[in-house]
Amino acid sequence: MSVTDEEIHRLLSECLPGRDPDTRSTVLGAGSDDLGIGRRYLEALVEGGWMVPTWPVAHGGRDADDDLAVRIGTALGGYEGADLYPYGVGLSLVGPVLLERGTSEQQARWLRAIADGSEIWCQMFSEPDAGSDLANVGMRADRDGDGWILGGSKVWTSRGAYSRWGMCLARTDPGAAKHRGLTMFAVDMDAEGVEVRTLDQMNGDRHFSEVFVSGVRVPDTDRIGDLGSGWAIALQTLALERASLGSRSFGGGDAPEAGLPPWLQDWRAAGHMSDPVRRQEAMRTYVLHRVNQLTAARAASVASVGSGPAGSGAKLRSVAVFKARAYLGKDLTGAAGMLVESPGHLEFLTAPSMSIRGGTDEVQRNILGERVLGLPPEPRLDKDVPWRDLLRGG
Ligand SMILES: Cc1cc2nc3c(=O)[nH]c(=O)nc-3n(C[C@H](O)[C@H](O)[C@H](O)COP(=O)(O)OP(=O)(O)OC[C@H]3O[C@@H](n4cnc5c(N)ncnc54)[C@H](O)[C@@H]3O)c2cc1C
Repeated sequence: MSVTDEEIHRLLSECLPGRDPDTRSTVLGAGSDDLGIGRRYLEALVEGGWMVPTWPVAHGGRDADDDLAVRIGTALGGYEGADLYPYGVGLSLVGPVLLERGTSEQQARWLRAIADGSEIWCQMFSEPDAGSDLANVGMRADRDGDGWILGGSKVWTSRGAYSRWGMCLARTDPGAAKHRGLTMFAVDMDAEGVEVRTLDQMNGDRHFSEVFVSGVRVPDTDRIGDLGSGWAIALQTLALERASLGSRSFGGGDAPEAGLPPWLQDWRAAGHMSDPVRRQEAMRTYVLHRVNQLTAARAASVASVGSGPAGSGAKLRSVAVFKARAYLGKDLTGAAGMLVESPGHLEFLTAPSMSIRGGTDEVQRNILGERVLGLPPEPRLDKDVPWRDLLRGG
């Protein structure tokens, strides 16, 4: 359905207040566990299908093409926003995967609840022995009549403590090579046998968790995709995650008319820009920020980027900007920066995690080296060996 930019603004202004340039939202949920802000935002947008415009109307979207979706995304930048971190796995990862691979029953059951924020999802991929080497996942899923019995443990499960569903990578065939014996499931986080233990992060957040899964029954109707297609789905999900992390600057000021980003305005207001050396450092960070924004905008107009290796480059760039800004921001505050209540302290303590979450910087560079630059691949001696015969620690 075609709609002009003026019409988009008219309709959005009916459901959202205008953006207050002085508002500073949290980033990636850091420092806030408030689920209500995001839920109210999604509830306001779901009837118009504004949050996930390319999804079908029946599932909370508006059947938009990519061009319209980009225009809507740009227009949304002019209105009051919300840190949608708690809802990110559902909106950016699970939703697109279900649209492509879910059954129509699964789509009807889960998509609308993702779009309106009533059900939160987490991503249960990493394990103590499966991080960068994700294909080493040891969570077992054994056939049990018309369902599966899952057992094992996950770690670093962001949003685990308040999620309704977990997208869980599990091993259905230990006799197959490690990439081939995996299948994806939706795990009901309220099911008996699921235990979530939160972990304290160095920035004070308790967003991620260990998840212990003991004899949890999952009906076959909650298997996502074909048996044995877990690795392909994991790769698709990770590419979507990188593209999502890489598509934002995390510093605000993404709307084209927004002018200087809020963090630079704050630095100027605090008088830091009157020192020529500081100003030069700030400008270097601003240039990184702008290049990242423009590259992200260009990538957003190329539909294939969302599922391709180029997302690794986008993720590396936005991580570099986030860290440069957080570290310079701390530096600018001088001795006062040693106080925990100093401005930007939370971002400073969150910055190192940016190089780890969604795949480490080193792993992103491996992907770029192999899949974009065509460099020789890393030696992989375990590729064709049955997973159960591989040497493992513990
Ligand atoms: C804030 C945060 C949130 C997270 N949220 C989630 C989540 O919701 N769900 C989830 O499943 N996981 C999550 N993770 C886990 C994250 O995906 C892993 O931490 C990450 O993939 C790295 O795995 P690892 O910690 O086991 O480190 P390892 O894989 O053990 O890596 C250790 C070091 O070795 C390097 N290294 C490893 N292999 C190679 C290689 N082949 N080439 C070069 N260097 C290499 C790494 O770059 C790293 O520096 C989260 C992590 C963080 C920090």
